[in-house]
Amino acid sequence: MKIQFLGAAGEVTGSKHLITTDHGKKILLDCGSFQGKGLETDQMNRELSFAPEELDHIILTHAHIDHSGLIPYYYKQGFRGSVICTHATRDLCAIMLADSGFIQEHDTQWFNKKRARKGLPPVEPIYTQKDAQHCMELFIGVAPNRKLQIDNNLKVKFTNSGHMLGSAVVTLEVDEMGTMTRIGYTGDIGRPGNYLLRPPDAFPQCDYLITESTYGDRLHQDKQGAEDELLRIVKYTCVEKKGKLIIPSFAIGRTQEVVYMLNNFYNEGKLPRIPIYVDSPLAVNATDIFRMHYDQFNAEVQQVMENDTDPLDLEPCATLKM
Ligand SMILES: [Zn+2]
Repeated sequence: MKIQFLGAAGEVTGSKHLITTDHGKKILLDCGSFQGKGLETDQMNRELSFAPEELDHIILTHAHIDHSGLIPYYYKQGFRGSVICTHATRDLCAIMLADSGFIQEHDTQWFNKKRARKGLPPVEPIYTQKDAQHCMELFIGVAPNRKLQIDNNLKVKFTNSGHMLGSAVVTLEVDEMGTMTRIGYTGDIGRPGNYLLRPPDAFPQCDYLITESTYGDRLHQDKQGAEDELLRIVKYTCVEKKGKLIIPSFAIGRTQEVVYMLNNFYNEGKLPRIPIYVDSPLAVNATDIFRMHYDQFNAEVQQVMENDTDPLDLEPCATLKM
């Protein structure tokens, strides 16, 4: 077996790790885009270190674009294997990859206008919204904690990693001529204190572990401090100064956490009814997918749901205690 690290090594985006088994099977763990370096990133994303049509499977830890964003590009380049992930990751990818395709098309249009002024020929977007929609036919959703036999020599299991809706640690069992090797791949790991999601579960023992270390050298801010600060700012801006609360967010996960916190402030009587605008069609669509997967929420959210069946809906359930 050979393992190659094709991204997220020495940097934090572009997660892609290629496993080639002794049987010649090629399995890619995550298929993320490089992000954040402008034109240089586009070139890095277009470079292929193997032929996508040779790839048998992509196994996906979660839907964030730096872990999933190149699947439509590989599809466009001939990849027709399977993309295996949890059900929630599949549902989120359906909207997030299409949105990414839309952005690629628009960015390229703008870029081509500039090129035309210099007399240069137009370039094609790395992939389009259509490519992103078509690649969804390759997705296979699996429930967490169930072992899926992919073929005679390959099994996979997903264990909740608490990082975003649907995120999971992948455990891959590879049988090579009777020798079993278990590979653990964490993707991004969540924290126990997530407002919505269950804390990460312990994943099975493995022979080799591939892991991220993005926040390995940092201490996170205390949860209560962040909540108090949010409430103070919203009360000052929207209640005292009669301002508007606009959330111009494209972040999946964080947006829903903020909406949930605001909803709890209403329920606890700490905030009155104020209009809130989430300025992102993607975030609004993602909220619908969160609603479809309430079973993945933590005990605290389940408890809130006993009195408030939709904690991601901003209708207030209590009046303000002044
Ligand atoms: Zn992530």
